[in-house]
Amino acid sequence: MTPGSSARATAGRAVQFALLAALFAGCAPRAGGAPDGPLNVVVVLVDTLRADRLSLYGYQRETSPNIDRFAAERGVVFRHAWANAGCTYPSVNSLLTGRQPQRILARMAEVGLAIPPEMPTLAERFAAAGWSTGAISASSVVRATPSKVNRQGGFDRGFGFFDESCHERGAACVNGRATAALDRLPEPFLLYLHYLDPHSPYRPPEWAERPYSAASASAARGWARRGEPWKIQRKLYRGETGNEFGPGDVRHLADLYDDEIRYFDARFAELLAEMERRGLRERTILAFVSDHGEELFEHGHWAHCGDLAFETVLATPFVLAVPGLPAGERRAPVSNVDLAPTLLELAGIGADPELFDGASLAPLLRSGTDGDAARVVFAAQGRMRAARDRHRRVTLDLASGEFAGEELGDFAAGGTTAELARALSAWLREVEGSDGDVALRDAERIDAELRAVGYL
Ligand SMILES: [Zn+2]
Repeated sequence: MTPGSSARATAGRAVQFALLAALFAGCAPRAGGAPDGPLNVVVVLVDTLRADRLSLYGYQRETSPNIDRFAAERGVVFRHAWANAGCTYPSVNSLLTGRQPQRILARMAEVGLAIPPEMPTLAERFAAAGWSTGAISASSVVRATPSKVNRQGGFDRGFGFFDESCHERGAACVNGRATAALDRLPEPFLLYLHYLDPHSPYRPPEWAERPYSAASASAARGWARRGEPWKIQRKLYRGETGNEFGPGDVRHLADLYDDEIRYFDARFAELLAEMERRGLRERTILAFVSDHGEELFEHGHWAHCGDLAFETVLATPFVLAVPGLPAGERRAPVSNVDLAPTLLELAGIGADPELFDGASLAPLLRSGTDGDAARVVFAAQGRMRAARDRHRRVTLDLASGEFAGEELGDFAAGGTTAELARALSAWLREVEGSDGDVALRDAERIDAELRAVGYL
């Protein structure tokens, strides 16, 4: 952006604020004592964070005491949440646009890993409504400017600034930049924070406590003690010999993964304290999500991306804290494409359902119910396609054409495996125009393109 266009944007924003101030001046108070006027939004995305490794989601280790406390005090926890893809690209593009990943992958030949220009982004919509916007990302994929793995950049559309100075650094760095951003972002604002801690290498800072991995270090090889799973991945996916690994290595890497979560959790508390100190709690919506999980050898695989669509990779945390709404939980299945329309509706901007594949969860939040008992959410990763309701999940391997069902333990509602498989097929015909060979050929072409640009 040139200095001239920046000045114009600032002037335009001042006019928008004046209009908004006038608009909200006559608003009635919100329910529950929330303040008048437009709310700020902070999206906390923790890359590679599995729901079931958080004590919030029932893990036996207390990996997330601060997140748990935050949720208990003011969060609505969605118990059955999915990322729509198992890889940063296109999962984050999908979250930021509310569109399914296949629609984004289909545009990769023209736009690379960036957000396709014809898809309005969450930040653009907030900016157009008068919010100031900013992003801080530690990811090498979620970038404004090119990196080794994202040669286009292109995630900055709609953000007034996009801070890359914490590239591949820990949560303390992102928090530091977030604090600086809170100093200069006029309210109302949308702030997107992309943390990277649980992503490999699983290596908390030297000074951080390692409550879970200390005991298992002695049984692990040196590379595992450094938190590096690459040898396992090379053995599994490239068949390279000389990369032997054993249960001690697997155990220790998984323990380090938990340590990373615990490290992030403490930084999350610091972020919340910073927001409290500024009095932002009562006028800020906070969304806590992830772009995918991490397979830690439970199914004989490692990490994410590729063709991995296990629960370990798709099940992610999804918590919303909304001023004026009580803490609670919902058991309706939701997915990350629901986030953009939800935030837009909660902020009073409004979300045209035609423009999103997801749906606003505001009615569920406000009613305190789970809404449609038959709700189904979907995901796509590599050649795998998946659907889930409250009760079970179904995957389709496009290469074999075979469906596989698995019960997930919430028996209150849900269809049969055959019904869910039919819903998955119908969804594929709608989004990809095919649930068979054409979809498989598209998936294989996209896989080859991702390899060609060095992403996989
Ligand atoms: Zn990711």
